[in-house]
Amino acid sequence: MKKLAVLVLVAVVCLLTAAQDDPLRIIVIGAHPDDCESRAAGSAALWVQMGHKVKFVSVTNGDAGHQAKGGGALAKIRHAEALESGKILGVEYEILDNHDAELMPTLENRKQIIRLIREWKADVVISHRPNDYHPDHRYTGILVQDAAYLVIVPNIVPDCPPLENNPVFLYSQDRFQKPNPFSPDIVVGIDKVMDKKIRSLAAHESQMFEWLAWTAHRLDEVPEGKEERLKWLADSRFGREVSPNIREALIKWYGEDAGSKFKYAEAFEICEFGSYPDEEDILRLFPMIGK
Ligand SMILES: [Zn+2]
Repeated sequence: MKKLAVLVLVAVVCLLTAAQDDPLRIIVIGAHPDDCESRAAGSAALWVQMGHKVKFVSVTNGDAGHQAKGGGALAKIRHAEALESGKILGVEYEILDNHDAELMPTLENRKQIIRLIREWKADVVISHRPNDYHPDHRYTGILVQDAAYLVIVPNIVPDCPPLENNPVFLYSQDRFQKPNPFSPDIVVGIDKVMDKKIRSLAAHESQMFEWLAWTAHRLDEVPEGKEERLKWLADSRFGREVSPNIREALIKWYGEDAGSKFKYAEAFEICEFGSYPDEEDILRLFPMIGK
């Protein structure tokens, strides 16, 4: 029994060392501070736990996201909230100083995104689909998918070395059906780190307990205490059953037994403009799948 424990320990140390020697590098690019958390905080926490490197980027500074505050003062609040969230997850966080709700898919912004992906030396890039509901989400999606392929072209943004390989570009999950619904090509069961995801979202206090609650006409439901707030956030945002297509994908990636049990998951759709991963690539880039 002792021997087995030692072997398991050695295997875990080897896995961690391998990850630290050659960690995967993931960049999640959302439109607003809190978007990366909503769509990928669980997967990020799992990557980080395995020794890989994750960076969250918010393409806007979030200075329009509140019913009573705004401008530079709000951008500062949201910056501090994002850094706190990054600390909880163990990810690097950067917020670009573009106004909230005014983002455009300009050449200048495209170059900025190319630079960010190159500087991070990303293996995986995650962003919104270009048919998400908010114009900032749509244009962030466009900017990121426009950067796919161009990140390997040396004559584009020539002062920043191009990547040798086009990363895998992925879209994060949304509920929009037209012109095409989201396809859960890759799915990650996140039950083990769901508490971390909730705490990272709760760090965006001005959003979770003020702005989003206000837009949903639920401001009067928000509890006062810290623990009560975490529970309220978990119940109100993630209280629903996993949908049938996500369940099917969980079973595909984790097997019938484990896949049937997950309560929480994050799903990703493969963008055809990046490197197109086969099943082996996916299991290498998502080493938490099946574990
Ligand atoms: Zn957003």
